Amino acid sequence: METDDSSLRVLSLAQHHALSYLTNLDRAPVGATVDVQTLRHRLNKPLADSRLPPEQVITELVKDVEGGLLGSAGGRFFGWVIGGSLPAALAADWLTASWDQNAALYATAPAAAVVEEVAGLWLKDILSLPAHASFALVTGCQMAHATCLAAARHALLSERDWDVEKRGLYGAPPIRILSSAQLHGSFERAVRLLGLGRDQVISLASDAHDRLEPAALQKALEDDPSAPTIVLLQAGEINIGAFDDFESLIPLAKRYGAWVHLDGAFGLWAAASPRYRHLMKGAEAADSWATDGHKWLNVPFDCGYAFIAHADAHRASMTHRAAYITHHDDARDEMDWNPEWSRRSRGFSTYAALRELGRDGVADLIERCCRHAHSLVMGIGSLPGAEVLWEPTINQGLVRFLDPSTEQDHDRRTDEVIAAIVAAGEAFFGGTTWRGKRAMRVSVCSWQTSPEDVRRSINSVARVLGVEPPNS
Ligand SMILES: *Cc1c(COP(=O)(O)O)cnc(C)c1O
Repeated sequence: METDDSSLRVLSLAQHHALSYLTNLDRAPVGATVDVQTLRHRLNKPLADSRLPPEQVITELVKDVEGGLLGSAGGRFFGWVIGGSLPAALAADWLTASWDQNAALYATAPAAAVVEEVAGLWLKDILSLPAHASFALVTGCQMAHATCLAAARHALLSERDWDVEKRGLYGAPPIRILSSAQLHGSFERAVRLLGLGRDQVISLASDAHDRLEPAALQKALEDDPSAPTIVLLQAGEINIGAFDDFESLIPLAKRYGAWVHLDGAFGLWAAASPRYRHLMKGAEAADSWATDGHKWLNVPFDCGYAFIAHADAHRASMTHRAAYITHHDDARDEMDWNPEWSRRSRGFSTYAALRELGRDGVADLIERCCRHAHSLVMGIGSLPGAEVLWEPTINQGLVRFLDPSTEQDHDRRTDEVIAAIVAAGEAFFGGTTWRGKRAMRVSVCSWQTSPEDVRRSINSVARVLGVEPPNS
């Protein structure tokens, strides 16, 4: 790269803007303050014929996106399930971009390959997954699902003498997928991408805690005992954070030769906390596990992890050999395990996050988020005009807002209050429909969230409801 003054100057400029953004986060509105027309009007400039000085590009970019960035890097963002970025993880991400390594192979990025190898070992350790499991660092949990399902498809069909990598799915025995109704849309998208077909997903009954009923699974397995089968289980479902009963469900599925896959996008991290580890009891017996780094571990986007108990099936579904590629026998080539070819060396930020926190730090992060989620839900839920729908067992809970006049209008009222809270700018929440009722989701997964953030957020909700802030 040319290292003339201007190319280095623009990096300092970007660093300056990044630091001032992060420093101001605590004072800035958490939601967006401009609309889509404004953003388009500012950003949709005519594509220029001539070049621009890099500093001008960056200065204008920073100006034009203002008000269009959500404060998810800060401590009062409780929408969806979105973590922040730990300091060392963010710094490592800056270096990742600067180092610009192509982490396809050991040969194209030697240090990145070894960092990923080590990160994989640490992740299996901290998540209590089998040491022999293979893994892949992918863009997010959805691609982790796709990676795990590709291995599952290989294993289930090769047991039936069908080489799916060679022959495809045309004429192959259909693979059925058994799941509770709580399945996340990202899993369904992975099913679609792999050609397994949405119609193969059979939705089974859940209990009062949104956990898959063992009796329902037993019956579905018995209905067609020899069909190639994937059983999807949840470790932390998105509305109430439900965990399936792995200890009874996994051995049951295994008796029928099913492949058990766990969606633990955030919930898998319960295993890292002595306090919440019991929720994951029995989960190590699954065949594959998908989780995220960019949610609860607080590494920057995009970062998810796939783990697979059957390394051979995993490798067979992904590996590729070509004459111009250099392979190292004693190094780990990411391409043997990853769906992508050229890729970002996303291992650096995971490595940095785990080093920054250590075992105790990860446990503390998980437990802190759960504590704050509980205080938020119970604090908001005890305000006049609010109601707790789900008291968090981990970091997810639900509240709703009651219409003072008509019983029927709670749904509308709930959506109105959520919009008003977001507009007030102190805190950010999203909505959902749960058991037929509109609800406000409370999800805490940021290392930044502090007791002060919880206090400010409850007070802001109180002001929106027109009641006395309880914590002033
Ligand atoms: C977020 C989430 C996903 C999808 O993860 P991405 O990283 O966005 O692909 C899947 N399952 C659950 C339970 C989630 O919360």
